[in-house]
Amino acid sequence: MAVKLIVYENSNLEKINHEKLRVETIVKNVTDAIIGFDENDLIQFANPVAIKLLGVEEKDLIGSSTEEIASQNELFNILIDETDDFSDLKLYLDGELSYFTKELFEIGVPNEGRAEENKTGLKRRGYFILLKNITRFYKLDEAKTNFIATISHELKTPISSLKMSLKLMEDKRYGTVTKFQKELINNINDDSNRLLKITSELLDMGQVETGKLLLNFGSTDPKNIVNYACEAIQFIARQKEITLNIKCPKGLTEVWADPDKTAWVLINFLTNAIKYSPQSSIIDVTVKKSSLGRVEFSVKDSGNGIEEIYLPRIFERYFKVPGSEFSVPGTGLGLAIAKDFIEAQGGEIGVESKIGEGSRFFFLLPTS
Ligand code: ADP
Repeated sequence: MAVKLIVYENSNLEKINHEKLRVETIVKNVTDAIIGFDENDLIQFANPVAIKLLGVEEKDLIGSSTEEIASQNELFNILIDETDDFSDLKLYLDGELSYFTKELFEIGVPNEGRAEENKTGLKRRGYFILLKNITRFYKLDEAKTNFIATISHELKTPISSLKMSLKLMEDKRYGTVTKFQKELINNINDDSNRLLKITSELLDMGQVETGKLLLNFGSTDPKNIVNYACEAIQFIARQKEITLNIKCPKGLTEVWADPDKTAWVLINFLTNAIKYSPQSSIIDVTVKKSSLGRVEFSVKDSGNGIEEIYLPRIFERYFKVPGSEFSVPGTGLGLAIAKDFIEAQGGEIGVESKIGEGSRFFFLLPTS
C-alpha cells in the first residue's frame, strides 16, 4: 500500500513538474513581455523580453517590491500605473522600434470564505502584466498604407489623361459627336471624376497614417472657410433643389487653422448632408462661439438620420451605416479623414443624430 502511494505521489509530482516546465518554456519563448506579482506586490517572475525591455538584471528584479523598482525605472512606473489609458506603447527591443499593448490579469484561487474576494469570487493570489507585442501588425498596417498611397498616386496620372482625352473628344474642332456619344462621354467623365476623388481621399489617408500630414496654420476668418465650402457644393445642392441656410455672425473671432483642410472637412459634411437629404430640403450651416474659447462649425440636414448604435463608429475608416452602402455610393473614408484633419489641428469633431430627425455634424477649432 505504502509503495503504491509513493508511486502515485511520484507520478503526480512528475505530472506537475512536467506542466510547470511546459508553462515556463512558453513564458520564456514568447515575443510578449510578462511580469508576475504576488498578492503583496512583490515581483515573482519576469520573462526574457520583459527583462530586456526594462533594462534591469533579473536578480535585481525578482523579489523586489513594485514601489522600489518603480522609483528607479520609468517604464516599470508606466506599467503599474492603473490610470494608464492602455494606449499602445512604443519601445525599443533589440535595437528595433516595437509596439506593445498592456493587459493586466489577476491570478485567483478558490476562496475558503475568509479572505478578500476579487470580482470573480476568487481569492487574489497575485497578478501579471502582459505586454503583447503587436509590432507585426504595425508593420503590416504600414505596408498597407504605403501600398495604398503608391497605388492611388499611380492611378492619378492615367485618370487625368483620360479626362484630358474626354475634353478633346468634346471639342468641336476635332469633329462632332452624336447625342448618344455625348451621353457616353458624360458618363465616362462622371466616373473618372469619382475615381479621382477616391484616389485623392486615399492619398490623404496615406498622408495621415504615415504622419506626413502637412498643415499650413494661420489665423483665419471662419466666414471665409464657410463661404468657400458652400460655393464649392452649390452646383450639387442646386441639382437636388436644396437650400443652404447659412448662419455665420459677423465679428466672430478668427480660428487658428489650416483653411484648406478645414474647408475640405466642411465640404465633406455638406456633400454627405446633400447625399442623405430629401429633394428640396434645407441644410443649416451654422458657425458660432463655443465653450473654451473655441468656434463651432456645424452642418444639419433633415435626412433619415443615423441609428444611435452606429454613431460611435461613424468616424471609423471604411465604416458605412449598414443599408446605406447599397443605396448611396461612397468609400466610407471621408469622415475618418475629416476626424484626422480636425484633431491634427487641435480641434474636436462630433455628430448628433436621431432617426427621422436628421443629423448634425460639427467640429470645434481653437481661436487664434
Ligand atoms: P462616404 O459618404 O464616402 O461613404 P463618409 O466617411 O463620409 O463616407 O461617411 C460614412 C458613412 O456615414 C456613410 O456611408 C453614411 O452611412 C454615414 N453618413 C455620413 N453622413 C451622413 C448624413 N449626413 N446622414 C446620414 N448618414 C450619414
